[in-house]
Amino acid sequence: MTIEAVSSPGTDYFFLDDLLTEEERDVRDRVRSFCDKDLIPIINDYWEREEFPFELLPKIGALNIAGTTIEGYGCPKMSATAAGLVSRELARGDGGLTTFFAVHSGVAMTSIATLGSEEQKERWLPPMARMEKIGAFGLTEPQHGSDAGLLETMARREGDEYVIDGEKRWIGNASFADVTVIWAREENDKLAAFLVEKGTPGLEATVMTGKASQRTVLNTDLKLDGVRVPAENRLANSRGFGDAVQVLTPTRHNVAWEAVGHAVAAYELALTYAKERVQFGKPIASFQLIQGKLARMLADITAMQTLCFRLSQLRAEGRMTIAMASLAKMHNAKRAYQVVADARDILGGNGILLEYHVARHLADMQAVYTYDGTDTVLALIVGRDITGHQTFS
Ligand SMILES: Cc1cc2nc3c(=O)[nH]c(=O)nc-3n(C[C@H](O)[C@H](O)[C@H](O)COP(=O)(O)OP(=O)(O)OC[C@H]3O[C@@H](n4cnc5c(N)ncnc54)[C@H](O)[C@@H]3O)c2cc1C
Repeated sequence: MTIEAVSSPGTDYFFLDDLLTEEERDVRDRVRSFCDKDLIPIINDYWEREEFPFELLPKIGALNIAGTTIEGYGCPKMSATAAGLVSRELARGDGGLTTFFAVHSGVAMTSIATLGSEEQKERWLPPMARMEKIGAFGLTEPQHGSDAGLLETMARREGDEYVIDGEKRWIGNASFADVTVIWAREENDKLAAFLVEKGTPGLEATVMTGKASQRTVLNTDLKLDGVRVPAENRLANSRGFGDAVQVLTPTRHNVAWEAVGHAVAAYELALTYAKERVQFGKPIASFQLIQGKLARMLADITAMQTLCFRLSQLRAEGRMTIAMASLAKMHNAKRAYQVVADARDILGGNGILLEYHVARHLADMQAVYTYDGTDTVLALIVGRDITGHQTFS
């Protein structure tokens, strides 16, 4: 027996979608329909081969979602809730594609939109919104993940150019991106961001292989060996690590929504399976312990979604703090992981087969748990906020 992913309104248990505007409904439906028709039917093959589905790029471009909340420059200027819904719906389809989009539309475009000069925005954002140009974001290094503020890549000024030397790790999309936002330390010891274009001499990207999670996004090791960029490629308003955090905070809001998408996908698949799978002469959905599990999964999804809706309202009002976004992402990544693990259990042995989709979501959730702030680091950010004591710098 095989089951297909279903589009069930059953996960909106408290009718939160009643709160959506027409525009937000439209965004939700467009992305959901793309995932159901174009993404889910083909993604397992890509996941198995550890390849990126380039064939989907024009279709994602046609959805008119890249740049989400950015105003002007051909970007959709959607609401924070709509941006969250994009993440939720994409993740209901596939984690790797969600990460591809979060890197391109989230951190790469947001870096340019919030830290770039007018010329930089005019040049890059319109083609990135159309997805004719793809972006990447290089902050993490082999020796600096959670402590990215201590990164060692250096940028020194030489006449009208900057010369960048260093190494980056995990950088999504960078093997094919037209532009990568590289964070480096300047001679004044402060961090700044630089736009490094595809094909710049000294820039070498090697695709990381052997990932057991998020296999459809291409992560890369980057080497920057005497990379020269014109001085005007320095993002004009990047003046320290705080600016990188400013770019990452809205993404953290989106990752909280992304976790919901994985949970929703897994719950829908498990519920369908439980109704169809017969053991001891009855559908397993008729057993009390299976029902208890499904009820708790739905309770978690409902709590996660409620948190997300409120977080988006706060973001729209300009009241979302780093600690709030961190709390939501920390909570949702943990709960979603448990929901997806329970779904895998409900599918029994079939739960580990790719064709049933749940195993892919379970594997992909491993990375969601870690990127955009690990569970522990996010707890420390919230802990600092509530106690006033800094435990890390
Ligand atoms: C699929 C994927 C895609 C990614 N894409 C990008 C990208 O496009 N661009 C980019 O720049 N980066 C990217 N990253 C990197 C990501 O941001 C880092 O993995 C993340 O910041 C964690 O860093 P780390 O993996 O080096 O773990 P580490 O920081 O080495 O953490 C290891 C462990 O130590 C714990 N720890 C660390 N500090 C403390 C502390 N003070 N107290 C207690 N425990 C602590 C952590 O919680 C964790 O459990 C990606 C990562 C993944 C997995």
